[in-house]
Amino acid sequence: MKYIGAHVSAGSSVAETPLRADEIGAKAFALFTRNPSRWVAPALKSADIELFKQRCHDLGYAPSVILPHDSFLINLGAPDPEKLQKSRDAFLDEMNRCMQLGLSMLNFHPGSHLNLMPENECLDLIADSINITLDRTEGVKAVIECTAGQGSNLGFSFAQIARIIDGIKDKERAGVCIDTCHAFAAGYDLSTPEGYAATWEEFDRLIGASYLCGMHLNDAKKGLGSRIDRHEQIGKGTLGEPFFKMLMNDPRIDGIPVILETPDDTLWKEEIAYLYSLIDKK
Ligand SMILES: [Zn+2]
Ligand SMILES: [Zn+2]
Repeated sequence: MKYIGAHVSAGSSVAETPLRADEIGAKAFALFTRNPSRWVAPALKSADIELFKQRCHDLGYAPSVILPHDSFLINLGAPDPEKLQKSRDAFLDEMNRCMQLGLSMLNFHPGSHLNLMPENECLDLIADSINITLDRTEGVKAVIECTAGQGSNLGFSFAQIARIIDGIKDKERAGVCIDTCHAFAAGYDLSTPEGYAATWEEFDRLIGASYLCGMHLNDAKKGLGSRIDRHEQIGKGTLGEPFFKMLMNDPRIDGIPVILETPDDTLWKEEIAYLYSLIDKK
């Protein structure tokens, strides 16, 4: 079964997110558990935590289809020791919030070397940061999102993601989220049947199929290999409709959250319905 949803806004409380997901016909959703553009955040209120859990239960959202996203400020590979510590502290807080909410995954961008550190050294530093956090928490998987490779952001190749996972001690708590816009911008040609097959073949060979825990479903504004991270509405970008049809009929995304992050949230309901309509009738 396919679980298509969107990254819904938390508004005034995380407890609103399952309601917003339900309104647009989502079977999965993503959320921020704290303001993603601030370093510090007030603790979650216990009443909000209970209400969140209750609503997720009542509306049928299991932890396996909820994919929280961490703050954009966090850089787990920061070359500057002070910024690295700040990032690790914030990442630990993100993980703890997921635990409090009864969630099982935390999705994040690996990190950036900022042209101050060799690539592999930065990837190993990211793995260290993940290990430190996993040691101090339990039950939540660290889900690495592939990036477009804009600027000095790492994690744009499957080899880089594989190297990070290689450095993670508890592999059971490591996962990967493929953002379709990012992958395409990074040079993985998902738009043709040959490119689609070759991309997943490389994923399986370098990372391993079992690590796939989630997808971000976005069309791309820029072309293949542009290294520019600009999401576009489904079917209106350079990835195109044939790609979405291939993906919606691909059993590898069964049971995992598939999350829209397209720019216009007023179209999400329509996009979700459209995506479900692409599934071939047996
Ligand atoms: Zn992301
Ligand atoms: Zn994404």
